[in-house]
Amino acid sequence: MNHTVLTGDRPTGPLHLGHYFGTLANRVRLQELHQMYVLVADYQVITDRDVPGRIQHNITELLLDYLAIGLDPAKVTIFQHSAVPELNQLLLPFLSLVSVAELKRNPTVKDEIAHSSQSAVSGLMFTYPVHQAADILFCKGTLVPVGKDQLPHVEVTRLVARRFNERYAPVFPLPEAMMGSAPLLKGLDGGKMSKSRGNAIALKATADETAAVIRAARTDADRHITYDPERRPEVANLLTLAGLCLGRAPEEIAEEIGDGGAARLKRLLTEAVNEFLDPMRKLRSSLDAADAREVLTAGNARARERAVLTLEEVRQAMGF
Ligand code: ATP
Ligand code: MG
Repeated sequence: MNHTVLTGDRPTGPLHLGHYFGTLANRVRLQELHQMYVLVADYQVITDRDVPGRIQHNITELLLDYLAIGLDPAKVTIFQHSAVPELNQLLLPFLSLVSVAELKRNPTVKDEIAHSSQSAVSGLMFTYPVHQAADILFCKGTLVPVGKDQLPHVEVTRLVARRFNERYAPVFPLPEAMMGSAPLLKGLDGGKMSKSRGNAIALKATADETAAVIRAARTDADRHITYDPERRPEVANLLTLAGLCLGRAPEEIAEEIGDGGAARLKRLLTEAVNEFLDPMRKLRSSLDAADAREVLTAGNARARERAVLTLEEVRQAMGF
């Protein structure tokens, strides 16, 4: 089947291994087979904080991360919310298709509110999943490679698409989510690995930074290493990470370490991560901000052409 793939990230900080195994690896694979759009979700930055912060810097860094993992701008349209007003305009009709009760039930929004640094919860926090429906539907996306936290949002998108089609005209496909090899990778503190929670291994981290983060990771007192996510979540998490980087089963790595203890586990993990990230670091060091800007300028123009067509179709279907 021929898909239109849409996915993206907030420019809130460097991409990390959770992104890689959650969604980026799928993107690199899918770009060879399907039409793909990757969104720099800049307007979404202000869902859980009062101001966008170092937004230009973060956008450049995000673009460099994309290029470093092997996204090819000749195959993929990389663009940003703030450059495509027609996409954002879809939010208006889409908001009319969902109830306040449905917005309040979203489990990911609830979790993000719990971790938010905002003084008060904004209207955007409750409505950004509908904005995400606009992200996915502006290009009539059919496949969305995301981590587990995004599943409720893809459901909102399906709901919006279904209701629009029923109320007006069959304009939109119902997109499917696609999860990666680690739909919810944990960070070094045991919570969801997340840019905003300071518990991540960034793709652009140096070998020394990587070693320092892993050294500080929590483990337990038992010297004999076993893979037991229920009883030993910290150790299991480090084994999972090593397994993903090495393409091996975590149980097998645990057995190999045996009585070597947390020190040996951390050494092995540090080597595995550094070897895994090395080619990305090399590619990244050959790129600069001008490369990032060029990719975004071209992508923004292409995305806008697409959005104009969809908005026109939506207006017609609604009788405007
Ligand atoms: P923030 O803390 O700023 O929200 P984040 O680390 O959650 O950052 P997002 O930009 O919100 O990253 O998410 C981008 C994509 O990466 C989404 O598809 C999300 O599901 C996926 N993702 C993020 N963190 C993880 C993780 N720990 N495991 C698997 N997938 C993840
Ligand atoms: Mg997030």
